[in-house]
Amino acid sequence: MKLVLASNNAGKLRELQSMLAPLGVTLIAQGELGVPEAPEPHCTFLENALAKARHAAEHTGLAALADDAGLCVEAFGGLPGVDTAYYATQFGYEKGDANNVKALLEQLQGQVDRRAALVSTLVALRHPKDPQPLVATGRIDGLIPLAPTGTGGFGFDPVMWLPERGQTLAELSNEEKNAVSHRGQASRVMVDLIRQQWLKHA
Ligand code: IMP
Repeated sequence: MKLVLASNNAGKLRELQSMLAPLGVTLIAQGELGVPEAPEPHCTFLENALAKARHAAEHTGLAALADDAGLCVEAFGGLPGVDTAYYATQFGYEKGDANNVKALLEQLQGQVDRRAALVSTLVALRHPKDPQPLVATGRIDGLIPLAPTGTGGFGFDPVMWLPERGQTLAELSNEEKNAVSHRGQASRVMVDLIRQQWLKHA
């Protein structure tokens, strides 16, 4: 089965490809199929993931998978949340992972409460009008350190410090990150759902 991934994020693609491998599905980034970026106008991860999956399915005629993810910072009342990808732009920086990390550390300067979570919502659709989207969520809690550490992963991984491991997500191998991460948790649920609901009679 071919699935279009409603994202062009190389980090997400790599992680999802490896976690969906047991299903034998081929995951294709939407950009490779000429799909433009979908608008993400909603205030929840779930609604944005659904919108992105529907958009990718509409443009390709393929079953689609979307992952809307983000960082929820306790001291900011759970923000930036759905606006995580554009976080740095609120402070005059260009969009991008390095600027996001820089802006986050600046905004947390002097803040004692460093609790934050990375969350992932996966939605899969067989076609744009699929009335039964498959939905899986995952969350990993950590603390934002004073400076980034590690070179693995992507996004906020160098500043997502896991107290139980004494390491950031960026210090873990790909396999170690997938075993504990928000996306890893959601992917394992999604693999089961696809098996049970899409592949059982295939
Ligand atoms: P989006 O889901 O593509 O809108 O991504 C939301 C934002 O969260 C981007 O800035 C990503 O870099 C960040 N992000 C998503 N997944 C991860 C992750 O696994 N680790 C760290 N940052 C992530």
